[in-house]
Amino acid sequence: MHLLALLSAVALLRADTSTSNDYIDRYREINALAPLPDQIAAVSDLVLRRGGAEIVLSRGTLYLLSPVGGRTVGAVFRGAGHISLTPPHPAEREAMQRLIDAPALNDSLNEVILMFSDSTVSQLRDLQFGPGEVPGEVEDNVRSFVASFRGRKDNTYSASVLASLLNDASDGLFLAHLRRVRGSPLLFQIDPALVESVLLFKPASGMIRFSNWTVVTQFPPPIGSASASQWYRQRVATPRYQIEAWLKPTPGADLDFSAVARVSLAALEATGPWLDFGLDPELMIDSARWGDGSAAETFKVKGDDDLWVRAPRRLAAGDSAVFTVFYHGNLIDRYEDWFYIDPSADWFPSNRQGDEAALYDLTFHSPAWYLIASVGERTDSSLDGKVMTTHWVTKRPSPFATFNLGLFKLYHAEFEGVPPLDVMMSEEAHRTMRNRMHDQGYMMLAQSHMSETVAADVANSLKWFSHAFGPPLFDHFYVTEIPYFEGVSFPGMIDLSWVTFQNTAIDGFDEFFRAHEVAHQWWGNGVRPATYRDVWMSEGFATFCGLWYLQSIRKGNKEYFRFLDEYFRNIKEIRERTGATWLGYRNGSRKAGYGYQALIYEKGAWVIHMLRMLMLDLNTAKDDRFSAMMRDFHDTFAASSATTDDFRGVVEKHVGVPMDWFFDQWVKGNAIPTYHVAWTNETTPEGRSRVRLRVTQENVPPEFQAWVLVSADLGQGRFANFRVKVSGAQAEYAGPLLPSAAKSITFNELHSVLADVKMERW
Ligand SMILES: [Zn+2]
Repeated sequence: MHLLALLSAVALLRADTSTSNDYIDRYREINALAPLPDQIAAVSDLVLRRGGAEIVLSRGTLYLLSPVGGRTVGAVFRGAGHISLTPPHPAEREAMQRLIDAPALNDSLNEVILMFSDSTVSQLRDLQFGPGEVPGEVEDNVRSFVASFRGRKDNTYSASVLASLLNDASDGLFLAHLRRVRGSPLLFQIDPALVESVLLFKPASGMIRFSNWTVVTQFPPPIGSASASQWYRQRVATPRYQIEAWLKPTPGADLDFSAVARVSLAALEATGPWLDFGLDPELMIDSARWGDGSAAETFKVKGDDDLWVRAPRRLAAGDSAVFTVFYHGNLIDRYEDWFYIDPSADWFPSNRQGDEAALYDLTFHSPAWYLIASVGERTDSSLDGKVMTTHWVTKRPSPFATFNLGLFKLYHAEFEGVPPLDVMMSEEAHRTMRNRMHDQGYMMLAQSHMSETVAADVANSLKWFSHAFGPPLFDHFYVTEIPYFEGVSFPGMIDLSWVTFQNTAIDGFDEFFRAHEVAHQWWGNGVRPATYRDVWMSEGFATFCGLWYLQSIRKGNKEYFRFLDEYFRNIKEIRERTGATWLGYRNGSRKAGYGYQALIYEKGAWVIHMLRMLMLDLNTAKDDRFSAMMRDFHDTFAASSATTDDFRGVVEKHVGVPMDWFFDQWVKGNAIPTYHVAWTNETTPEGRSRVRLRVTQENVPPEFQAWVLVSADLGQGRFANFRVKVSGAQAEYAGPLLPSAAKSITFNELHSVLADVKMERW
């Protein structure tokens, strides 16, 4: 990549780059979008084909909307129209069925509001436009449609719409607000920023993530890859960040945050000139400049997380540039002796034109009496009076960077066979909290040696997972305490909730919780999920690993199966309101608040448990084949991202047979079987015994199949274990020959399949 030469040339063309007028002017034009009384045309049989959908404007009137940036970007159709859309994947048809009561769209329309930055404008060129009457209702509908993308803060707007309308190039954006003759209105979108660019929304009634529209279905356009390996289309990479941050104590003992970030940009395709970055809502820009020293135009408001940066001109593929941005804000809150530093906050401008990992070079200037930890290797530190300066460098590209700081005590631990650990916890913060609780009449036990306890669990689980999956990618670990009820894991850095530093719950939850975060060093940080559909390979894997670790240290199955049972109840309870695990975050809604947890973490863990059971050696009860498979997956995809299909490929390599049925059922599907099971002993003509089973399968599609583990109790402490391949509505199965008749059987031994089992009389 070469350095940008275009900037100085362009600086001559644009003398005035000091204000945000361009942004505001454009924003006002968008908000003022309205039908033009002299741009009305009769339309018949105009067909708009986008992303597999077909919108037909059969007969009616088309009203052109006022221009934005001199371009026509909108129109309204009133009359008789039609839409048809069938999502290509069964999981998506199921989502549509669940959310709008039909697996495909095939609907009559009486109004379509269009917004576009694509070929639509040329399709409208042949119409005969002239003056006419604009019904008041049309104006009102346009106004409320435009308003539905407005942000909560003044002058903010849905980035996926704004990016296309700020930039004048035709980039493929297409929005159609569909008023159906029957049913609620829908929004169809082609979002050029995403790989899965085809989206259908309905008005929001419960989604947490979007304020006005809920995703009904999403998929890549028919031409393109079947399985997206990235979330964002890779238009601009940010291969390198150099960030210097100042954390200065205020009179109130809070910390002021200010920083300068030097962001390297490399355009992979034509993009901009306006570029979108994520930056914490609290942070405000002081100034920004390009590599040649010219001022960079930016737009950011407090309370919103979009940072818009205007490049001197539209970037062409191959262009590279560096922009430097100075910013500050109330990023860190202090309450009692805790510093609230949200581990996932965008404390530097995060790229929204691509999601490739970046190298980070981080410098912190912080009060000498607080300990600080960040990602990467701490290369040097120095003390200047009361200010400590530390320098951190990531050795390999990382998708994110974070830091934590507090009134910590450092506990350094070295255990054999695992990388060194530095545990940072705040005894003082615990003490203040205890005193506060005591004043309020509560009793909170003093903890002791919690750094040692947590370090031991982290080291033990690191060792256990290194043994199972191979060594982790990182050769040193920080384990820091955060004042939240959650844990977060970053490359070589694990943030754990203060709760797990308070005590260790007897039910195994703390060992599980700590090990879950440790497991993310392999799953999530080592192998990264490619898109939201694959997040179960981070959270589900880590949840399974937490259970597996618990099983190993407790030397028994009790807690392992107790957690799996609890997950099963959660999954069933929320089943009507959730879809496949493969739908990722789309399983979380206000109607199904626990949906994300249940489908991604808990069912994800069940999927891995089922693979473990499928690969279990029934003679030796060993997991060797399973852990060899997991190790291979980590070896193959470590330091890069993987899709669910990538994982299936590795599983197939180790199992030796196609496994699409397994992933289609359990990850991309959401059926859970109920088995009605009857059994009897039978004697073969040769006088040998065997078990005969009759299994009726319910609540699943006819082609559903599973290998169910059966354990037959032969008496005198002898058991025979075998697998039965259950398929079809009802069938009989004969077990293997046994030395004697079974006294009883356990169908679905070791929870081998996520299923309800109901035993019946033969
Ligand atoms: Zn996790």
